[in-house]
Amino acid sequence: MRMKHDTLLRTQCLIDGKWTDADHGETFDVANPATGTVIARVPKMGAAETRRAIDAANAAWPNWKKQTGKQRAAVLRRWFELMLENIDDLALILTTEQGKPLAEAKGEIQYAASFIEWFAEEGKRANGEVLPTVAGDRRLIVTKEPVGVCAAITPWNFPAAMITRKAGPALAAGCPIVVKPAEATPLTALALAALAERAGVPAGVLSVITGDPIEIGGELTRHPTVRKLSFTGSTQVGRTLMAQCAPTIKKLSLELGGNAPFIVFDDADLDEAVAGALASKYRNSGQTCVCTNRFYVHDRVYDAFVSKLSTAAEGLKVGLGTEEGVVQGPLINEAAVIKVEAHIRDALTKGARVVTGGHRHALGQGFFEPTVLADVNETMRVAREETFGPLAPVFRFDSDEDVIRQANDTESGLAAYFYSRDIGRIWRVAEALEYGMVGINTGLISNEVAPFGGVKQSGLGREGSHFGIDDYLELKYLCVAGI
Ligand code: ADP
Repeated sequence: MRMKHDTLLRTQCLIDGKWTDADHGETFDVANPATGTVIARVPKMGAAETRRAIDAANAAWPNWKKQTGKQRAAVLRRWFELMLENIDDLALILTTEQGKPLAEAKGEIQYAASFIEWFAEEGKRANGEVLPTVAGDRRLIVTKEPVGVCAAITPWNFPAAMITRKAGPALAAGCPIVVKPAEATPLTALALAALAERAGVPAGVLSVITGDPIEIGGELTRHPTVRKLSFTGSTQVGRTLMAQCAPTIKKLSLELGGNAPFIVFDDADLDEAVAGALASKYRNSGQTCVCTNRFYVHDRVYDAFVSKLSTAAEGLKVGLGTEEGVVQGPLINEAAVIKVEAHIRDALTKGARVVTGGHRHALGQGFFEPTVLADVNETMRVAREETFGPLAPVFRFDSDEDVIRQANDTESGLAAYFYSRDIGRIWRVAEALEYGMVGINTGLISNEVAPFGGVKQSGLGREGSHFGIDDYLELKYLCVAGI
């Protein structure tokens, strides 16, 4: 890695304002998914180190809570600015450990920084309310207070943004936070911690610990001092963590798996729909929870859409994320590739056909050909399971009722997309889709201004937007009598 300032490449964790090794000196390897090369070793921490980070957060809480919203905003603003000043180094670290193309990594750093900027401002407006009284000698007042020590467990597909989307509102609301990043992508998290320290985030207010997910997750969910857990990751792990949080009744924000449908009606602008499909499906090589998992295309435009999408998919350059012009990096690991292959094999045995791609890419490692499957039906695994890879299965439909039924026939309810120009249909379909977010005539919907989150088993709570800070605030009702 050729960085401008290698001070951002950290291989120790930040606990209580100190850069720290694991108690027993243990480490684990961080590899570049494009080459398999080990790029760093980071601490393999467990329950003891986690306890220390929680205790430090608790000790730092009173002072951080006492700061005004404006004072906390000044620190967050500085963190935001430092992220943008160091965008090239951060993006290079991110691409090297995660694989996504450098341009996409830079986009993620901007997106990640936007949450810090946004919540710095929102923190200043965490207004309470005065309620109309029920008796002349009483006044009813509602204030908002930080929930207390928070924990975050984050995934590898957005190594920067999934941290700032949690740490931003937590810190702005006056909560300290302990972050455990994914094992595959700890370096981006540690670099963000280094910048937070430089920005003036006090010791203990933000700790980042890497290591054993079971041990660290066990302690974060068991410890009574932790009042809230925010998790982004798989639905299965989300269920486990929710159960682990039950004995201490922790507040929970969960951003879990999706199974996004993308519907193309026969009145859609097909070229626009293909452009949206590409952005929604192949971004991050299909490894985002809002990536389209299932395409539903009306019978009348089915062949034309499949042909245009396949041509576009064939034009996507696959390669090292640091190479000019590359838009498809490797998948995160071998297990991810095996899952894509299994979904393709299952679909082919049940009557689907490969229109383009279908195999591991000649580059080896985790590289996979952008793939389009046609003649897909409801009996196939791709209808129910999130593939999390560059595979576009295209289903055929012929009525609005039928496609809405199929789109909603899943335990997930994160993002959905559809293309239509008919104003009546747009409202009917938007209201009928059981999803937390709906993209209409677009395949890209995420930004810091809008609430991100799902319904059904896709999770609890919303991140980003002016709603996002509420998850880190408690209401307190003051009843003042005897006036
Ligand atoms: P993915 O399938 O995207 O890797 P995971 O849900 O397995 O999603 O991982 C998301 C995050 O959850 C990562 O930081 C991972 O280390 C963490 N994690 C996985 N299993 C557990 C667990 N049992 N307890 C706590 N954290 C876990």
